[in-house]
Amino acid sequence: MELRVAHLYPNMMNIYADRGNIIALERHCAWRGISFSVTGFGLDDDISWRDYDFFYLGGGQDRDQRLVSEDLRAKGSGLAEAVEEGAVVLSVCGGYQLLGEYYVTGAGDRMEGVGLFRAHTVAGSDRCIGNVVVRSDIGCLDLTLAGFENHAGRTFLAPGQQPLGKVVSGFGNNAVDGTEGIVYLNAIGTYLHGPLLPKNPGLAEYLLLQALRHRYGDGVGPLSPIDLSLEEEAHGVAVRVAGGG
Ligand code: GLN
Repeated sequence: MELRVAHLYPNMMNIYADRGNIIALERHCAWRGISFSVTGFGLDDDISWRDYDFFYLGGGQDRDQRLVSEDLRAKGSGLAEAVEEGAVVLSVCGGYQLLGEYYVTGAGDRMEGVGLFRAHTVAGSDRCIGNVVVRSDIGCLDLTLAGFENHAGRTFLAPGQQPLGKVVSGFGNNAVDGTEGIVYLNAIGTYLHGPLLPKNPGLAEYLLLQALRHRYGDGVGPLSPIDLSLEEEAHGVAVRVAGGG
């Protein structure tokens, strides 16, 4: 088996060590003998969307977000179609904002998103910065997620949309309604940097399994057990540091 990752705009959307998420996926595969490939795609690159099982889009500054928002929309509906077919998307912070309906910056500039998520973002006058802990029931699991957030944008989900989880400590989507992130099929948007997957091995395992099922069918799994004791310990520390338990 092979996990094929498309890393979208790795040179522009990569603040807060987002590459750590890719490294975590690579390690979880290597430890159980699953082949792994990652291909970076930048502005104007054509993507053969069906060739990938896991799309990653990290955080970025407003200036880069504008360029990426225009390029993503020019790339058409391939990402949305891949999601309907079960591909995994992990989008973090600035990337999450651009997969929603629109993002209005602090300067009042409006960027159109691709509308994969029924959510919109408007920048507030101050930033939401700090460690964050979230309780998530994604995939019928009961996961505590730890991360770090740093965003001016306040994201509001449309009625009926499923958040990634509930905020235990920190700000989350908008510092008001207690939600964090969004889930649509196997696509996730979140403000949790960290990087997220090294700090939350349970989420990494879940997303890896969904991505493999996208390529090889629902008969795949459960994943063979691997020793994640060190990762679990790091996770516990991150949760405690963030005041989540
Ligand atoms: N510019 C966006 C905000 O501040 C996203 C920043 C980020 O990706 N960290 O809301």
